[in-house]
Amino acid sequence: MGYYAGVDLGATNVRAIVAEPDGTTIGVSRNATPRGPTGIDVTEGVLETLRDACTDAGVDPTAIEAAGIASIGPFDLAEGAVVDPANLPDSIDRIPLTGPVEKLIDSEEVYLHNDTNAGVIGERFYSDRNPDDMVYITISSGIGAGVCCDGHVLEGWDANAGEVGHYVVDPRGRLTCGCGREGHWEAYCSGNGIPEYARLLAEDDPTTATDLPLEDPDFTAKDVFDLAGEDELADYVIDQLAHWNAIGVTNVVHAFSPIVVSFGGAVALHNEDLVVDPIRERVSEMVMTNVPEIRVTELGDDVVVEGALASALTAGTGDRQHYQG
Ligand SMILES: [Zn+2]
Repeated sequence: MGYYAGVDLGATNVRAIVAEPDGTTIGVSRNATPRGPTGIDVTEGVLETLRDACTDAGVDPTAIEAAGIASIGPFDLAEGAVVDPANLPDSIDRIPLTGPVEKLIDSEEVYLHNDTNAGVIGERFYSDRNPDDMVYITISSGIGAGVCCDGHVLEGWDANAGEVGHYVVDPRGRLTCGCGREGHWEAYCSGNGIPEYARLLAEDDPTTATDLPLEDPDFTAKDVFDLAGEDELADYVIDQLAHWNAIGVTNVVHAFSPIVVSFGGAVALHNEDLVVDPIRERVSEMVMTNVPEIRVTELGDDVVVEGALASALTAGTGDRQHYQG
């Protein structure tokens, strides 16, 4: 009997799970993502984490029949590697993934996905309602989407479909995105963008009362949400975030016509009432086609690694019809 594995390589943590053929998890592991010095060190961290999960499960890595890997991008898909990841040190230029994992488990059934695509695979595989038309949106340090349309998870050229965080939502381009372009959704509404946006709104109207530590280098998005209902500027920022988030989600809905839009990522998961509820209210007024169900993933932080496992269980498709177990 073979086992299955899911791996999630993020900028902060590497996680791995090992499961029985019926999807029951029997081993887990989590380590900090190595900060280099080279990409090979990150590869070693991934292999180590997968080995740890195998040890936890009491199985040899070669007993793994198939593995799914969810990772930060961008990818060289032909080589199964991450190339120049944005949120790791500059000395990390290339992280080989598919080949080394194939070698460790002695199987060629290794499927590499970007983390948001793994998110939509996981959400679709495990939720009670798993329609063929579904979008998973993460709002965390960045913003991105995994799109399943007509039962197919969209990959696009070099698997770059779903980079919706770089939708232009503000044509005035008042904030510059981490990618270097102006007016992008995640420049305003991601965990990394929110502090800068709060500073911009404070400058717009210096009479707005606030206790937010705007000048503190440790000022984070969490500070804004923590002061909700108590601070005039924090409330204004949260209201404006809802405005841009609703524009971004409306664009997603008009492009892909999903039945369900499911949110994950720390900003959405930790602030459902302040982030996701206002999107639901506004989008219903802004969409001219069918209004989808808008919800938060029930898998929480596990949605991406569970999606990687679901990919392994379904020969890379995420489709229950291909369930191998
Ligand atoms: Zn951008």
